[in-house]
Amino acid sequence: MNYDIIVIGSGPGGYVAAIRAAQLGFKTAVIERESLGGICLNWGCIPTKALLKSAQVFEYLQHAADYGITVQGGEPDFNAIVKRSRSVAEGMSKGVQFLMKKNKIDVVMGTASLKKGGKIAVKLNDGTTKEYTAKHTIVATGARSRELPNLKQDGKKIIGYRQAMVLEKQPASLVVVGSGAIGVEFAYFYNSIGTKVTIVEFMDRIVPVEDEEISKQLEKSLKKAGIQILTKAEVTSVDTSGKISKVSVKTATGIEILEAEIVLSAVGITPNIENLGLEDVGVKTDKGRVLVDDFYKTNVEGIYAIGDIVKGQALAHVASAEGITCVEKIKGLHVDPINYNNVPGCTYCSPEISSVGYTEKAAKDAGYEIKVGKFPFSASGKASAAGNKEGFVKVIFDAKYGEFLGAHMIGANVTELIAEVVVARKLETTGHEIIKSIHPHPTMSEAIMEAAADAYGEVIHL
Ligand SMILES: Cc1cc2nc3c(=O)[nH]c(=O)nc-3n(C[C@H](O)[C@H](O)[C@H](O)COP(=O)(O)OP(=O)(O)OC[C@H]3O[C@@H](n4cnc5c(N)ncnc54)[C@H](O)[C@@H]3O)c2cc1C
Repeated sequence: MNYDIIVIGSGPGGYVAAIRAAQLGFKTAVIERESLGGICLNWGCIPTKALLKSAQVFEYLQHAADYGITVQGGEPDFNAIVKRSRSVAEGMSKGVQFLMKKNKIDVVMGTASLKKGGKIAVKLNDGTTKEYTAKHTIVATGARSRELPNLKQDGKKIIGYRQAMVLEKQPASLVVVGSGAIGVEFAYFYNSIGTKVTIVEFMDRIVPVEDEEISKQLEKSLKKAGIQILTKAEVTSVDTSGKISKVSVKTATGIEILEAEIVLSAVGITPNIENLGLEDVGVKTDKGRVLVDDFYKTNVEGIYAIGDIVKGQALAHVASAEGITCVEKIKGLHVDPINYNNVPGCTYCSPEISSVGYTEKAAKDAGYEIKVGKFPFSASGKASAAGNKEGFVKVIFDAKYGEFLGAHMIGANVTELIAEVVVARKLETTGHEIIKSIHPHPTMSEAIMEAAADAYGEVIHL
């Protein structure tokens, strides 16, 4: 039971780290207590996108007449939607099983904890225990839904994201507390299939990490779609004694009582760092996260941590990039630390939002003199043809050197468009290089080129 590398947790951080380790010739094992693929494949990125696709199909059907198609009937079947989402997740998890086999990575199903001397104790899922030894141990145990003291999840009336994905019946009404990506995606999904949805956000705008103009546009779009939104509002208590829960919300104008069949708490995540033996082996943590250096090494020789349990954006692609960086560094390859300001963030509601780099405010706060360009999809030929004219692309450049500081998009499929800007920023591309890169017509991507042109007073289609 001796390995070069043992990875604890098989989410997008853990399983990707394991594959890269195997590619680099390390004898590798992964220990997983639940399902291969972690939260991302089983309870996060993938099953939510499957639910959202069903919502989108239903929306298309409702608007089929706009495209000259007559459709009769077409009602959402909630249980079938959930069933499809679960089967997509299951398929993805099986895919990871295949990848482990293909890369000759041993999979141990059980709960791991660290012991001194590179040892790992595993309580196997069959009830027995076993000890493993590794030269390098990568901890990638992910996170769970964060609980607020006045919003304790009971799994029935006050739920977290897991239950929200597998409810037995569609709720007639839902209060979503928190308007980050997870909250907004569930709000959009349930609203679009007919649930009455209210979002309660503590900050003064929804999706508060995004550029202010994006928040404003999204709020407008979601309200138009029928979602009620309360900002600068705080849930103080929930009375779950009746069939319908009463949610007390403190707003600028006083206490408001919202009624809802289900309350979804989407107020962030709590890293899984308990019961792992971190204290026993002396690994330092801070504010609930494991402390690591630029290459994910903890203060204890041979122990590393990646993904949602370390600082940085809690996103699947971040966890994977950290896993690869960590393993390549162990191998002694030349690797650069990750630039967290070049990590794209996407929210898959409708309209979608995506962003990378500085917001306008962050760029100004950082002392940049900036040039801002914007291009609305209402002026895009492809958007018109597709019937997706809502939204815009906003780009931000450094006025002095033309550096591409950031991009913020809202509209159909913008989660696919953002990759262009990620590459542009990685290659330190300037605004004029974007303008001079011929974009295919008609595509939504032309909006990036046009927005860059707008920043320099050269926009054509406005
Ligand atoms: C509803 C939702 C939607 C999301 N959508 C997106 C999205 O669209 N895009 C995106 O980039 N991110 C998304 N995320 C975030 C993304 O899922 C996480 O950032 C990502 O899964 C983190 O990867 P990880 O490898 O750190 O941990 P995880 O994926 O959480 O995996 C950790 C694994 O470790 C296992 N484990 C924990 N403790 C032990 C132990 N002691 N022994 C053995 N195994 C253990 C767990 O069972 C789990 O399988 C979403 C999250 C949620 C909740």
